[in-house]
Amino acid sequence: MPELPEVEVVRRALEGEIKGLTITDIKIKYPNIILDDIEEFRCNVLSKKIISMDRLGKFLIFNLNEGNLVSHLRMEGKYFYVKKDSMDNKHIHVIFYFDNGYMLCYQDVRKFGRICYKSNCDLYTTEPLSNVGIDLTKNKDYDLDLLYKKITSRKTPIKTTLLDQSIIAGLGNIYVDEVLFLSKLNPHMDSNKITKKDLKNILSHSLDCFLKSIECGGTTIRSYTSSLGVIGHNQDNLLVHTKEACPVCGSKIIKDKTNGRGTYYCPKCQKL
Ligand SMILES: [Zn+2]
Repeated sequence: MPELPEVEVVRRALEGEIKGLTITDIKIKYPNIILDDIEEFRCNVLSKKIISMDRLGKFLIFNLNEGNLVSHLRMEGKYFYVKKDSMDNKHIHVIFYFDNGYMLCYQDVRKFGRICYKSNCDLYTTEPLSNVGIDLTKNKDYDLDLLYKKITSRKTPIKTTLLDQSIIAGLGNIYVDEVLFLSKLNPHMDSNKITKKDLKNILSHSLDCFLKSIECGGTTIRSYTSSLGVIGHNQDNLLVHTKEACPVCGSKIIKDKTNGRGTYYCPKCQKL
C-alpha cells in the first residue's frame, strides 16, 4: 500500500506531467471508484484545467482552476499518463483525456481507491480531508499536548493507534514498523503507556522516515510504482520491516500480526 512518501512521489511525478492541461473528456468504466453522483462529477470536472498537484497525508489533490479532485490510491491504485488510446486493460477504471492528445488512466486491481470532486470551500471542511490528522511534512505547528492526549487516551496497541490516519496522517504498515524500531517501542505496547518523550521520538523519526523515503523515490514492495516506470528504492533502507535480524543487536526479528497486518520488531531493542 502506498504510504505518505509514495503518494508524494506520485504527486511530484503527476505535477510534472499534467500541470497546465485541460480535461476534455472522462471515461468512467467502474463507477464505484467515484464517490459522487457520476453526472455531477462529470459536470464538475469537464473543461477544468489542472493548476497544480497537492497532497494531504495519503490523499492526492488535483487543484483545478475551479474546485479540486481528491484521490486516494488505497491498496493498489496507480496513475499512468500515456498517449491517448495507447493503453487499456480491465483494471483501468477511470480515464481523464487531455487537450494535448494524452490521457491519465487510473488503474486499480483491488478497486478500493476512491476519487471525488470538492469545491474550494468544502475541500478541508468535509470528508475525506476533514478526517485527516497531522501531516508532519506540512504542519510543523501542531499542538503536541493535544496530540499526546489523543494518543494516550487510546487503549489499543501503539501500532494500531499510529495507523489511524485521523491522528498522524501518512504512516502505514511499513513506516510504522520502522518508526517504532527507531523509537525503541514495541508495536504491541499500550498507547496509554507512551511518555511524551516517546511521542517526540515517534514524531521526529516519522518525519525523518518520510523525507528520506521521498528522496529515494518511495518504497517499492509488491506492486507499488509511482507512475509507469518509476520505481522507488527506499526498501534498501528499511531496518526492521521484512528483515530477519536486528541491525542493532543481531536478535532474530519477530514477525507477527497487528490488525491482520504483518508486524516486524526486535524483542530486545523495543520495550513493551
Ligand atoms: Zn535489537
